[in-house]
Amino acid sequence: MSAGPESKAWFERAKRVLPGGVNSPVRAFGAVGGEPLVIHSARGKTITDVDGRDYLDFVGSWGPLILGHAHPKVIEAIGAAAKRGTSYGAPCELEIELAEHVVSLYPGIEQLRFVSSGTEAVMSALRLARGATGRKLIVKFEGCYHGHVDHMLVAAGSGLATFGRPSSAGVPEELTGLTRVLPLDDDAALEALFHHEGDRIAAVIVEPVPANNGLLLQRREFLKKLRDYCDRDGALLIFDEVISGFRLGPGGAAAHYDITPDLATFGKVIGGGMPVGAFAGKAALMDELAPSGAVYQAGTLSGNPVAMAAGLATLRTLEAEDGWTRLDELGAHLEHELAGVIETSGANASAVRIGSIFWLALETRSPPRSAGAVAKGAAEAYAPLFRALLDGGIALAPSAYEVGFVSLVHSIPDLDRLAAALERFWSGQ
Ligand code: PMP
Repeated sequence: MSAGPESKAWFERAKRVLPGGVNSPVRAFGAVGGEPLVIHSARGKTITDVDGRDYLDFVGSWGPLILGHAHPKVIEAIGAAAKRGTSYGAPCELEIELAEHVVSLYPGIEQLRFVSSGTEAVMSALRLARGATGRKLIVKFEGCYHGHVDHMLVAAGSGLATFGRPSSAGVPEELTGLTRVLPLDDDAALEALFHHEGDRIAAVIVEPVPANNGLLLQRREFLKKLRDYCDRDGALLIFDEVISGFRLGPGGAAAHYDITPDLATFGKVIGGGMPVGAFAGKAALMDELAPSGAVYQAGTLSGNPVAMAAGLATLRTLEAEDGWTRLDELGAHLEHELAGVIETSGANASAVRIGSIFWLALETRSPPRSAGAVAKGAAEAYAPLFRALLDGGIALAPSAYEVGFVSLVHSIPDLDRLAAALERFWSGQ
């Protein structure tokens, strides 16, 4: 079974008017073969395509939908906000409330600015870091994805990992010349770079939970070294928490590892499924932004009231239901089940998990900690697995390098269903 006749027909229309038929590359199924499902609706844990087929969803719109699709509280908040107008281009109550909420939850921040995507959050945070330090160099890590900011499109993960491109056409070398790329989990390379260029580094940006080239969980000591070197040489540490923020827990990876960055970037969960990003830090640093400071940053739809309402409803529901504890329990159950089926079926794979984020590392029994350690055959091994699951009504991300997300609407039987489908796949091979 592949995409049904209605999905195929819609995708044919899409290809005429949207490049590659999509508005974001990995959606096109290029890495797994076949044609994408065109989605008609989604509710709870289920997405339904235009052929009327239901799928148990572990993509969750690539992370934002931590409560599941169309959660009643979120939909109600969106409706109530929309009735009061969809955009004002002026300060509004909801953006102030969400900002207060985020500041109270995430360690070490006093102010934030809202934007409309994770990419924008990263782009703005990097500009602020350069403006505040008066330095030019940015350090990033191989396999970490920070959105499609020009000078971050070097050894990035996500769609770029899938397509095996080291970079993107349209990005001149001059724009990436101020970016330094290091391997993850490599203390010696980090030390050498700081030794040579430490006083020129404006910021080190990292996904503290790298989740765009598989799930490359880091040693706390490595992340702590980033903090220590930045402190020593006057560089800023930026945690890109677009995926991990408000998913691992209210304090994201910063609280999980007990390491406080100078700036944090958010997206996905903070907008509850609406287009929201944010970047945050101490007031003295954030004050460098216009209008108080000299670093320019702006946005017509920034702090959009409808989007703010969705984010607030999402965070409030998570808190009211002690959602993060439950998500961790669900994640732990899934990890245990996956490890079990890998063992019984003898699959060459390992289950990697932190909180409600999970990944199947294929063609290896030891979870990789750097992009270079991800098995070369992982993508080939993933495509048939992905298709078998989809045929069985289970949607994982259409790429070997993307993680899966458990949401609060998943039940233990849902997780067991995923594990059983994998066991059938691996045992049948
Ligand atoms: N940073 C990280 C860590 C991400 O995972 C992503 C998107 N997956 C981004 C930045 C970019 O966010 P957006 O797609 O909202 O621009």
